Amino acid sequence: MEELNEESEVVQTQEKWKEVLHELVNQTSVISFDMWIKKLEPITVYADKLYIKAPNNMTKKICNDSFNFLLSQAIEKAFGTDEFEILNPEEYEEFMLRSLEITDSSTFHEASTLNPRFTFDNFVVGTSNKFVYSACKAVAESPGTKFNPLFIYGGVGLGKTHLLHAIGNYLVENNPNIKVLYKTCENFTNDYLECIHNKNKDISKFREKYRSVDVLMIDDVQFISNKEATQLEFFNTFNDLHQVNKQIIITSDRPPSEISTLNDRMVSRFSMGLIQDIQSPDFETRYVILQKKAQLENNHIDNDALEFLAENITTNIRELEGALSKTVFLAQLKDKRIATIEDAQEALKVKKEETTEFVTPNFIIDQVCKYYRMERKDLLGNKRNKEFVEARHICIYLMCDLLNIPMATIGKEIFNRDHTSIMHARNKIIDSLKTSDKVRRDVNDLKSLIQNK
Ligand code: ADP
Ligand code: MG
Repeated sequence: MEELNEESEVVQTQEKWKEVLHELVNQTSVISFDMWIKKLEPITVYADKLYIKAPNNMTKKICNDSFNFLLSQAIEKAFGTDEFEILNPEEYEEFMLRSLEITDSSTFHEASTLNPRFTFDNFVVGTSNKFVYSACKAVAESPGTKFNPLFIYGGVGLGKTHLLHAIGNYLVENNPNIKVLYKTCENFTNDYLECIHNKNKDISKFREKYRSVDVLMIDDVQFISNKEATQLEFFNTFNDLHQVNKQIIITSDRPPSEISTLNDRMVSRFSMGLIQDIQSPDFETRYVILQKKAQLENNHIDNDALEFLAENITTNIRELEGALSKTVFLAQLKDKRIATIEDAQEALKVKKEETTEFVTPNFIIDQVCKYYRMERKDLLGNKRNKEFVEARHICIYLMCDLLNIPMATIGKEIFNRDHTSIMHARNKIIDSLKTSDKVRRDVNDLKSLIQNK
């Protein structure tokens, strides 16, 4: 019964949204409509407010700035409320994750926290991820029987979350009654802490929620706290589910043995199943990902531009997608029907300028020190210990890559070295990026820390 209600609610939302579009198509120019309004998607009405998803921040901004009044009028007509909120992709993901909390006791199906965009079909398989893909597919086809737990690790933006959602979507589609629970490690911890600190909440409710599922997915387990109570709860949840062959899938940015906060017994539990890594994609895969993404979003972009992007953005798929959106957007601004390599070049240039606007050498140094838990004087000084040298080289690499300042300046003003040693350090990291998982992961993590300031 619950499920039926929910389904009809989704259908109703879609129908009402069609009415909104119908209103707006007559009130806006063809270009505005096609370029912005048509790209919006209704999510749900919650507490008298319609939540809408935008494919990127630009669309959100333009719709809010230029079409706010028209939208609210049309929405009121169709939905009976004029309140709405447009979410960019990150906000959307957060909203979907939070929706579980919001609607814990209502009719919202757990599966609603799964992002429908993240499917196996939309996942491009290449040498860097074919093993992890097969493992995920096997688990989705027969949960609890093969790799249990399945532990996936790899750097930022390489598709771990995508794969978890893909497994979830596949499971729900093929077994309508299956109970799938997707949670970030942070959600899990907060849920638990809330239960033990809030007198009105009951720990048995928490246990019921986590231990009654058929499939439990915990994303980003590297954030597990080292507090004994949380780990114990996690350990017991794991054991309860595992004993009755319920599937558990975990992701992390590093293998279990390298998560410093993780108890040894938890590490050994994770080793009972399959531990599989996911690598940075090679050029081929990056190219196909871009192609597929452009197709999905109905973007017109020529092959040279795709090649240029695939060549220049090497480690992080999220970044790759961002650069594609930016390229297409720049082409649209110029009224070009097809985005070309010039737009792609401009997109990367703009991105670098945007980064340099708020990223300073000092900020990079701070982030590197924090990441490696290192004193500034050790990072910038002359100590030859391996860890200092590597961090120093990575810091130099990041400055060369992210800032528009000459090597000589980086050398002279920051590291007190000449520009050949700066170049040497940078080249060393470029080489290591090809051979060392650790360097690749560190650079990737640091870049996202710095760029998502
Ligand atoms: P992670 O969780 O590892 O940080 P995500 O799963 O969030 O990374 O992936 C980042 C973005 O890249 C998502 O938009 C995802 O859809 C996309 N992506 C990652 N890997 C692939 C792939 N192999 N094919 C298509 N898209 C991918
Ligand atoms: Mg993730």
